[in-house]
Amino acid sequence: MYDPFKTFEKRVLPNGLTLYHSRHERPFFHAYVTIHAGGREDVPGKEGTAHFLEHVVSYASRDYPDYLENRKFFTSTGGWANFGTTGHFSTQYSFFLPHDLDIVKKGADIFGTMLLGARIEHRVEEERGIILQEYSRQFPDEKMLVLNRTSYRIGLGENHRLSHSTVIGKPESIKAITASDLQAFYDRYYVPANMSVVTSGSMTVEEVVEIITASGFGASIAGVRNGIPEPIIPPKPSKNYAEESVSKLFSIKTQQATYDKTWVLPVCDPDTVSFLAKTLSQVISDEIREKRSLAYSFSVSFTNYQEFNFFYIGGDVSADKAREIDPIVRELMADIENLKKVFEEVKDRRLKSLALYDEAVEKYTEDAAEDVEVRQRILTNQEVYENAEKVTWEDVEKILALLTPEQAVLFLQMP
Ligand SMILES: [Zn+2]
Repeated sequence: MYDPFKTFEKRVLPNGLTLYHSRHERPFFHAYVTIHAGGREDVPGKEGTAHFLEHVVSYASRDYPDYLENRKFFTSTGGWANFGTTGHFSTQYSFFLPHDLDIVKKGADIFGTMLLGARIEHRVEEERGIILQEYSRQFPDEKMLVLNRTSYRIGLGENHRLSHSTVIGKPESIKAITASDLQAFYDRYYVPANMSVVTSGSMTVEEVVEIITASGFGASIAGVRNGIPEPIIPPKPSKNYAEESVSKLFSIKTQQATYDKTWVLPVCDPDTVSFLAKTLSQVISDEIREKRSLAYSFSVSFTNYQEFNFFYIGGDVSADKAREIDPIVRELMADIENLKKVFEEVKDRRLKSLALYDEAVEKYTEDAAEDVEVRQRILTNQEVYENAEKVTWEDVEKILALLTPEQAVLFLQMP
């Protein structure tokens, strides 16, 4: 089996930064930097801090103060740079450069200085304006955020951050964030011990260690790794059914409805819950979309929030059919014999596709960085294959049994 993940070598630098490097033949250099902190670390009332900081950081590099110059450096080589994406539990930065020692040294120094040597009092007000615009592009009306968070609010309770905010925050919290809030977040989480760098290129791991150590990434700053949090026990949802009329909220006319059924699931084996989602996805989509044409898009998925999983079944349906969906979904979820049969197909396909893993350098480096983000380590393809192979229908059924009507939140958005 082609397994580029086996080529990653891990080193922990004296300052605590974790590096994973894969050596290959091609004359490129890829780097994905993960800060193990994101929206989850925002303080109540200051939702959006991690994302705000991600914006400000790119403008605040001590030795490279000109953001446009920095950006141009990467593109002028033919490469690219991503100056930040904020997630729930991580923030990612990445860049891609040709294999040229001086270029790679400079690229690493720009990012290293930015992430460990920023002066973040700059640009706070400018970025606040940009973030408020970003927010209103996403939620042109404040009621849209409330609507968007409904399933979380019912499933997790009023007080959970996800019940009233996304990583961007909300206007009042974005306005409340001060330069010293940003500095406090930066000082706590932007430290070498809380940083993982995944690279690939034609250099040896020792050469990369040398470059990274000599760059801004090599700074000695005390700090600790932000670990994976303790799992939560899903609370009982405040209700099992909610309905909202969109035209009443926004005075718009639509024929469309949204069926949205969710569960807050305890942390469970990711391969098993993924098999459950894929199995249900096939069974439910085939019936709702292909056989009965009740919806144009329907999906089953889950989001791993590290301390719980958020399991989702839903899609856009025509309004006059919206109420017909749930009885069908329930019936399909109760047909164990059929689910078991489909699971065997899904598993067979998954194992075959793992055996055919054929990704180029950029994609496998990105995949490895995603492992580091979610699990704080890199899984080899062999390991992923063996884990998937071990999953039995009985394992999947145990998680299916957690998707009870009592724990479900069905939310219908009607015209
Ligand atoms: Zn943004």
